[in-house]
Amino acid sequence: MATLPAQTRTLQELASAAAARYTAANPLSQASFERSTEFLPGADTRTVNHFDPFPATIVRGEGARLYDLDGHEYLDFLNDYTAGLYGHSNAAIQAAISEAARNGLTLGGPTPNQQEFAELICGRFPSVERARFTNSGTESNLMAVSLARAVTGREGVMVFDGGYHGGPLNFTGTDRRLNLPYRWTVGEYNDAASARALIEAHADDLACVLVEPMLGGGGCIPGTRVFLSALRDATEQYGVLLIFDEVQTSRLAPGGAQEAFGIHADLTTFGKYLGGGASFGAFGGRADLMDRFDPRRPDHFSHAGTHNNNAVTMAAGLVGLRDVLTPAAVRRLSQRGDALRAALNGVASRLDAPAEVTGRASIMTVHFQRAPIRCRADVAATPPAARDLFHLEMLLAGFWIARRGFVTVSLAHDDDDCDAFVAAFEAFLERHGSAIDAALE
Ligand code: PLP
Repeated sequence: MATLPAQTRTLQELASAAAARYTAANPLSQASFERSTEFLPGADTRTVNHFDPFPATIVRGEGARLYDLDGHEYLDFLNDYTAGLYGHSNAAIQAAISEAARNGLTLGGPTPNQQEFAELICGRFPSVERARFTNSGTESNLMAVSLARAVTGREGVMVFDGGYHGGPLNFTGTDRRLNLPYRWTVGEYNDAASARALIEAHADDLACVLVEPMLGGGGCIPGTRVFLSALRDATEQYGVLLIFDEVQTSRLAPGGAQEAFGIHADLTTFGKYLGGGASFGAFGGRADLMDRFDPRRPDHFSHAGTHNNNAVTMAAGLVGLRDVLTPAAVRRLSQRGDALRAALNGVASRLDAPAEVTGRASIMTVHFQRAPIRCRADVAATPPAARDLFHLEMLLAGFWIARRGFVTVSLAHDDDDCDAFVAAFEAFLERHGSAIDAALE
């Protein structure tokens, strides 16, 4: 165990100095940011893209790398919050998109690709007997929850603190003003006993429990088997539907988290990487529930969406899942992610630094604290300035990650990329570990 050198500057001073260096290094991005604020509120069209002092403008991606307006090259360890699993230049996906463009883009009818893609998804994810496509993970969750409310005739929806299911389904913070006006019951993640009690107490009015098998945006906190099993048992007992939001976790094993845990939900939602890099969403599950969307039934529900089977997504998603992300490739990617997380935690422990990297397989979050992490409230121990400093220092060192410390591994990464990331993390902890410790006191 090594001892970190004493630090004289506060974390806040260090973060401000890093922001000044970042600003000086990115004049073109800063100008682009300022011009964009005239047309886009806050200069962007997706809140998570923003960070202070301003985000670098990305002009190009290639393989595992991103390039910005000021000419910097980054190793991309964010990969668009898991949507970029295939990297930026997968040849099979690029060929599929080119072919789709040649064959016509807005066809307005069923296509062979949608059938093969749906068949593949049903074959891959154990509890999915039928699936439907949408355009985003948010929309998939909306459809799954609406289906659950319609078939059960109940109104309430149970979710968990720290859960993220889309813009109007966001339980990661305290500001929930934009959330849909459902009757929400918000439980504590990984607390099996209280979840069971809440389901029992609200059973008469509870349509479904919507849960991520691992909190993603909430800090990469894996659900425990005990917790997820308790949800399965209690929902079954009270006739409540269990919805797994696998928008992120479907990549954690070939058949998703549901396969890894051996726990099958009634409905599952998907998004992100499964579209091969194009906009994507899908939901599916038990045939008796999903068949309510069969228009041949007199009592069917209507499910609309102009671009649900858009040619680019169907082609890129199908080729990606069928030809690139084979079950063996999922396992290899997960092993690389597990090895990276173990190496990062190994460095933190060797330096006795205040850092813990949580997550599973190829998705993880770096936290700067010594307090254990089991649910969303626990990660509040990390000082915000530690996240700011880490993020800016990693950008300056050429690594693209999220402000909140979110990191993912893509198929484009190799061992050298991961080793370089570990070395940068180690250098950061050596330089700033004591300042973080001082802020934690
Ligand atoms: N569910 C989870 C677990 C997510 O991580 C996200 C996006 O971050 C969503 C749903 C929403 O997906 P989309 O951004 O495609 O609407």
